[in-house]
Amino acid sequence: MKLEDLSGKRFDRWRVIKRGKSRIKNKRKFNYFICECDCGTVKEVLNWSLTRGISKSCGCIIIDKLKTHGKSRSGVYKSWYSMLRRCLNKNHPAYKTYSKLYIDKKWFKFESFYKDMGERPNRMTLDRIDNSKGYYKDNCRWATWVQQANNRKDNVFLTFKGATHTLKEWSRIKNINYSTLKERRSRHKWSIEDILTKEVQFAKRSRQWKKSDVSTAKSSPRTRVKKAYVTNAQ
Ligand SMILES: [Zn+2]
Repeated sequence: MKLEDLSGKRFDRWRVIKRGKSRIKNKRKFNYFICECDCGTVKEVLNWSLTRGISKSCGCIIIDKLKTHGKSRSGVYKSWYSMLRRCLNKNHPAYKTYSKLYIDKKWFKFESFYKDMGERPNRMTLDRIDNSKGYYKDNCRWATWVQQANNRKDNVFLTFKGATHTLKEWSRIKNINYSTLKERRSRHKWSIEDILTKEVQFAKRSRQWKKSDVSTAKSSPRTRVKKAYVTNAQ
């Protein structure tokens, strides 16, 4: 079979200069072409490695991919990464809330997210304009926490140890009843730390109930409930 001359052709980053040497290995003939990569590297590449798309560059494509976009420390990258983590990582504390949200498929690639959203302005975070909808260009913007809070007046944001979430989200994260958190905040005016970290105390009431009632109120569930009421009212 005659070897096709690939000279002058382009295979991704490779540009074929001319035929190289042929080598015999295990009684098989291997044909090489001398190629120049876009980055300037010149190398001999196996002919079928080129034609089948196995070799696409001297290796600089992979390095470029690893370096990604040089933006891995930027704010926009962090926002993008934490968006995906919230929505996709089962171990993330807010996963239950976010996993139901739609994410534009394009946005699984940072480059597309960056193209749509641009740089993250200082002190701003990724905000969904309609909180019930997901992550896609038309529903997202960079906003300050104040803006976001105004946008959702009914939402209360608490910042604790550098993380900001709504009371509802904290409720899931800390596994404390939402109404308990609300009461701690607006009725008892506790500090944020106390609101989010104090253990829920409900053991007292049930112990009281047991002590006074177990002996007397075995009869019916209804009287037991009544008794409990009386005990609590004291
Ligand atoms: Zn290269």
